[in-house]
Amino acid sequence: MDIPYGKQYIDEEDIQTVVDTLRSDYLTTGPAVHDFEQSVAAYVGAKYAVAVANGTAALHAACYAADISKGDEVITTPITFAASANCILYCNGTPVFADIKKDTYNIDPEDVRRKITPRTKAIIAVHYTGQPCEMDEIHAIAEEYHLLVIEDAAHALGAEYHGKKIGSVSDMTTFSFHPVKPITSGEGGMITTNDENLYQKLLLFRNHGITRSESLMTKTEGGWYYQQLELGFNYRITDLQCALGISQMRKLDRFTAKRRQLAEKYNEELETIHDIVCPVQKEGCKSSWHLYVIQIPSEKRREVYEKMQEAGIHVNVHYIPVYKHPYYQANGFKYVNCPNAEQLYKGLLSLPLYYQLQDHMQEFVIETLKKTLK
Ligand SMILES: *Cc1c(COP(=O)(O)O)cnc(C)c1O
Repeated sequence: MDIPYGKQYIDEEDIQTVVDTLRSDYLTTGPAVHDFEQSVAAYVGAKYAVAVANGTAALHAACYAADISKGDEVITTPITFAASANCILYCNGTPVFADIKKDTYNIDPEDVRRKITPRTKAIIAVHYTGQPCEMDEIHAIAEEYHLLVIEDAAHALGAEYHGKKIGSVSDMTTFSFHPVKPITSGEGGMITTNDENLYQKLLLFRNHGITRSESLMTKTEGGWYYQQLELGFNYRITDLQCALGISQMRKLDRFTAKRRQLAEKYNEELETIHDIVCPVQKEGCKSSWHLYVIQIPSEKRREVYEKMQEAGIHVNVHYIPVYKHPYYQANGFKYVNCPNAEQLYKGLLSLPLYYQLQDHMQEFVIETLKKTLK
């Protein structure tokens, strides 16, 4: 038996939707892109959405639209995929790492406050594992210091904070549709926003900075005319990917409910085990349960990891603190110190969690884990 830590679920409806698109007039930049954007925007309750090639492109576009440039500092968490900080570097900004909270593993608003300087321009809050960050506190700080807030919700499509879906309350929220994420489009990403100005910048950035809109151009020379106004990229997403995304959106609530049920089962079975710290749920928050992470004693982590792999259970570790990577160590982050993040990393383990994880497979994971911990 081979059990991955995460996996997509594709059904016949998904396949048929993509095939229908292959037979249509548009393979890219067609109606499916707009429909996918509408579907996500409506779901999360945001005014605008811009679909792009992947979640990293979404973060890059968000940093660009936030006007991050040389000299600007952006505060984020070290317990995330490298893309959450890399996007700041793409714009020549400086990532500043704030430590995490010991209970939720999310960025600590108090440490964010401590790390603010006159150069701070934005905060990138990552809803790690799908558990929402303390957004009220983060927004209060942002308002006080006039900072932009970007939410990296790569894990959090479907998560809720105080009764609202993640994706509608900050300046911008980014999503990823990589196969292990809450829904997939193969590769894909999206930015949601309620700000018309940011929306226009995101649209330009996705397509080389080029526009055909007469209201944006300095002049026109005829119907063929277009202008490049900014230096953007080709971050477009195909209609094939968006067709899959639209079809997957119809199943999102089903996916989330199953993940929640599996997480509850893990909690029930593992909570009482002395050597395991289970994830906590915060009042007023509903996690989308992208990941189920436990902490085990650090001296046992490597052995448990290896024994689980041998049993065909592909547990994983999310994440190595970003500033610990050689690239960051060699580029000015050698003396960064986030003790809670480093402590958490030492004992972290992500257990398999995905829509098609069947009861007997989950029981096998639980039993194998219990045995290897003995
Ligand atoms: C997956 C992920 C990304 C990047 O998304 P891609 O679609 O793989 O580019 C960014 N941030 C976090 C937290 C992620 O998990």
